[in-house]
Amino acid sequence: MILNEIKLTDFRNYDSLSLAFHPKLNIFIGHNAQGKTNLLEAIYFLSLAKSHRTSKDRELIRFGAEDAYINGTITTANSTLPLSIGIAKGGKRAKVNHLEVAKLSQYIGHLNTVLFAPEDLNIVKGSPQVRRKFINMECGQISKVYLNHLSDYNKVLAQKNQYLKSRNVDQIMIEVLNDQLAHHASLIILKREQFISTIERHASRIHADISNGRETLNVVYNPNIKYESDNPEDLKSEISALLAESLDKEIDRGTSLVGPHRDDIGFTINDFDVQTYGSQGQQRSTALSVKLAELELIKEEVGEYPVLLLDDVLSELDEVRQAHLLTSIRNRVQTFVTTTSISDINHQIMDDMQLFEIENGK
Ligand code: ATP
Ligand code: MG
Repeated sequence: MILNEIKLTDFRNYDSLSLAFHPKLNIFIGHNAQGKTNLLEAIYFLSLAKSHRTSKDRELIRFGAEDAYINGTITTANSTLPLSIGIAKGGKRAKVNHLEVAKLSQYIGHLNTVLFAPEDLNIVKGSPQVRRKFINMECGQISKVYLNHLSDYNKVLAQKNQYLKSRNVDQIMIEVLNDQLAHHASLIILKREQFISTIERHASRIHADISNGRETLNVVYNPNIKYESDNPEDLKSEISALLAESLDKEIDRGTSLVGPHRDDIGFTINDFDVQTYGSQGQQRSTALSVKLAELELIKEEVGEYPVLLLDDVLSELDEVRQAHLLTSIRNRVQTFVTTTSISDINHQIMDDMQLFEIENGK
């Protein structure tokens, strides 16, 4: 998949910008605070109708403007497709092929992206919540079914927690909710298991490359519910039994204690826990390998590579890793990279690419 061009109107510090992109490698170079990340954010927004760094869309509208617009054209194996999103203070509207979609869920999935930003180190170093958000985002991007079950699960969970908090708990009502939770949980868990094992398969290979074969990376799913079944029906029964078992405790504590909302992922290198024992470099390369694994995963699911957005990673990588990252990947995946300095760029990489100098939103 290729993003051919983008047009921004009143997005962040861009009043009006039109760029045509290179099909392989695009480098955005500029001093701090000139708009490099903003540009990646715009591409990300065009993909997922949300920002990776804020949940408040209005922050994306240029100071003093009323609405922001992002227009782009993508080329996939089958077609060329115009996409556009308008962001107003009251909400956003998205169009595919000039036609407005009724729901944003119908919009997402046309342009697939993988973004690696400095804060992605938190996938390894941060709390389980960060890792759950990561799984949900990535699974959600490739599976609408997953998104639907997750959203239903969260709705029912919120309802259950309300009941648990109230003073006289209606046990029958909770059992009804538990049955729905078990249904959605079983599908969420099986998807996560499948997702994480695929991530592991690719991430270990990528990490072995990056570490020159010296390190073995493993990625493990640590589900909150220990289960045995591998089909949704049996798993649902297992979960139902566990929820029933935990009910007294949950009533006592006034909150829901069991389920995939408490899942986690673990990373090990040569069998030690990366979060606890890994060096900075190992933590960073783990996070990077996991992100790059997603490229393969999305390729398997949707048949085409997504576009890759790399924010501020070059300066952190030595030449070998940089070359591995940019030369091998750009032949398969259209890549967008930001950097503050030309000296960060390995000269072997400089051919067959497009360099964009960014200064103050121009
Ligand atoms: P760095 O190298 O420090 O990461 P960058 O080039 O990635 O810098 P960006 O985050 O893309 O910088 O852009 C930051 C600039 O955008 C800042 O000058 C900020 O004031 C400006 N900016 C952010 N939001 C808006 C907005 N809604 N309207 C106008 N300008 C904005
Ligand atoms: Mg930046």
